[in-house]
Amino acid sequence: MPKILFAAEPALWPKYEGHLFHWLSEAGIAAELAPDLGPPEEIDYIVYSPGSDVQDFTPYTRLKAVLNLWAGVENVTGNETLKVPLARMVDGGLTEGMVEWVVGHVLRHHLDIDHVLAHQDGRWVPKVPPLARHRPVTVLGLGALGAACAQALAALNFPVTGWSRSAREVAGVTCLSDPGGLEQALARAEILVLLLPLTPGTESLLNAAHLDQLHPGAILLNPGRGALIDDDALLAALDSGQIAHATLDTFRTEPLPPEHPFWTHPRVTVTPHIASATRAETAAQVVVENIRRGEAGLPFLHLVDRDRGY
Ligand code: NAP
Repeated sequence: MPKILFAAEPALWPKYEGHLFHWLSEAGIAAELAPDLGPPEEIDYIVYSPGSDVQDFTPYTRLKAVLNLWAGVENVTGNETLKVPLARMVDGGLTEGMVEWVVGHVLRHHLDIDHVLAHQDGRWVPKVPPLARHRPVTVLGLGALGAACAQALAALNFPVTGWSRSAREVAGVTCLSDPGGLEQALARAEILVLLLPLTPGTESLLNAAHLDQLHPGAILLNPGRGALIDDDALLAALDSGQIAHATLDTFRTEPLPPEHPFWTHPRVTVTPHIASATRAETAAQVVVENIRRGEAGLPFLHLVDRDRGY
């Protein structure tokens, strides 16, 4: 009988408990599962969030895998005590939420909804927005989230370009990779969406030089990670008008400190890391599928390449 430690913030346990036991039962797995399971050397799997108390995996000598509840793993990949496979979260609910956030904010800017709301003043001044087919969007990162967002935008007729590390094919999307792909992808973008993981290769990717390559007056959406952007370079680009608006969901320091200039900048929208969340009802099934695979000797899904950093 596998022993599964739920090592995450205590508030998450009541949300996950019922769903995890349900899917374990559906998979025919009799398991012990709890946030406190006795000796670490008896634990087979850890359902994990980097905010948990477990930071040293050394005592978990029987561990088969760590199953991360979050999609981003930048706070786990550097943990030298973690020697077993690490799976990250790829969850249908998480993807759905991200698609809705990205499409919603793209449409806000595309349709200039802020302007509409600011002009409810009795004056009849028609300002017809362009069609989506005339508004190029670029998505940096074509993984589980980026590809789904790119496809949803393409389905609305936006000309969508995507960029990834390796060459990808996403139906309806112009897919680019390096060499040269990033520059082309940026040059096309009237709206840029960042859905890259934070790794040594992506940190501060959006620096002054890359911001300068965007279409003048571009819109930036960052639901990826705050440190993908050089904050000072972004503020300068906002002040010069090179970036017309930035809608930011993720930040170098979270919560975003009250004194940070993003809070008061007239062309910045701050959302508090809510673009999407792992949903217990769908994520529990993903976690249990990996436990089923572990017990059956099958390869785990959604494994993190620790050298690559995602
Ligand atoms: P993923 O499936 O791992 O996809 C990552 C994508 O980025 C892949 O296409 C990958 O290229 C590309 N990439 C990575 N490093 C690169 C580099 N150096 N140059 C070019 N492309 C690179 O990740 P995901 O599930 O889509 O999630 C993306 C990120 O979203 C997460 O890491 C997390 O930071 C963020 N996120 C945010 C929220 C929120 O609420 N704000 C929620 C969930 C996730 P390849 O295709 O070649 O591998």
